[in-house]
Amino acid sequence: MKIETVGIVGAGQMGGGIAHVTAMAGYKVQLYDISPERIEKGIATISGNMARQVSSGKLEESVRQAALANISPAPQMEDLAGVDLVIEAATEDETVKRKIFAQLCPKLNPEAMLATNTSSISITRLAAQTDRPERFIGIQYMNPVPLMKLVELVRGIATEDLTFEAAKAFVSSLDKTITVAEDFPAFIVNRILLPMINEAIYTLYEGVGSVDAIDTAMRLGANHPMGPLQLADFIGLDTCLSIMQVLHDGLSDSKYRPCPLLVKYVEAGWLGRKTGRGFYDYRGEHPVPTR
Ligand code: NAD
Repeated sequence: MKIETVGIVGAGQMGGGIAHVTAMAGYKVQLYDISPERIEKGIATISGNMARQVSSGKLEESVRQAALANISPAPQMEDLAGVDLVIEAATEDETVKRKIFAQLCPKLNPEAMLATNTSSISITRLAAQTDRPERFIGIQYMNPVPLMKLVELVRGIATEDLTFEAAKAFVSSLDKTITVAEDFPAFIVNRILLPMINEAIYTLYEGVGSVDAIDTAMRLGANHPMGPLQLADFIGLDTCLSIMQVLHDGLSDSKYRPCPLLVKYVEAGWLGRKTGRGFYDYRGEHPVPTR
């Protein structure tokens, strides 16, 4: 399985980051999202992030230009027809992802490989919705993709060895480190990380501490680079809630019960950094705790 061209579905935080590192590694990228405006916004963000790498001396301007030239907007799903690999990085919602694969598969080259960047949803179940479960795999990047070294690879029950090997070679060519996880809810990183974040939200909900107290406690008391509520805002509170729901439903254990305060923030549309407000308000010069 030779991978030269990569289609990305979803031009949000993760899809944009994946396009960034894929284009930098010399692959041709087709970036698709539900609306052309979101693709444009995604490409503008990638361009800005690469410009920051140039100003901090980590990247040559000529390399930035070459990488940007590797990324093409794909306003129609049909634009992904010729790619060798599609990486789905749309909203963490199984219904959305199933619909995407149902629409996408008939348009693709029958040999093309499919991957999902899901943080928690069963790879086996998503693969079963496609016409090629043997060429389907979970490739889970970490946020922000250009900075984070790790990628979790997750095989579905039907994933063939050839697919696994091709995914390993592709991810290694991006200069990332691979861990392999079995296909159980939220895999490794989020199985451990999200219950901690959810517990931090319970700590806030029960009044044990304020946003600032909780984040300061974990930054200085556990030596975490970011407080858990700051991290939740960074991930996106909708994504955090979806992951907790997948853990709760998939493992049927009450210890994964999503905190009602997390539900409330998501219902308010306060999804964290990406919407300007979450546990912090980002609309001013400095983030201000919202509780
Ligand atoms: P995001 O909200 O920033 O972006 C999601 C994008 O999907 C949006 O641009 C939206 O327009 C697009 N989208 C929604 N429905 C679509 C459709 N039908 N067709 C095409 N595009 C559609 O979310 P994100 O943080 O980029 O997360 C995307 C995926 O990556 C999720 O599966 C998430 O679990 C996973 N992930 C997220 C993180 C993180 O820290 N945020 C880390 C690892 C993996």
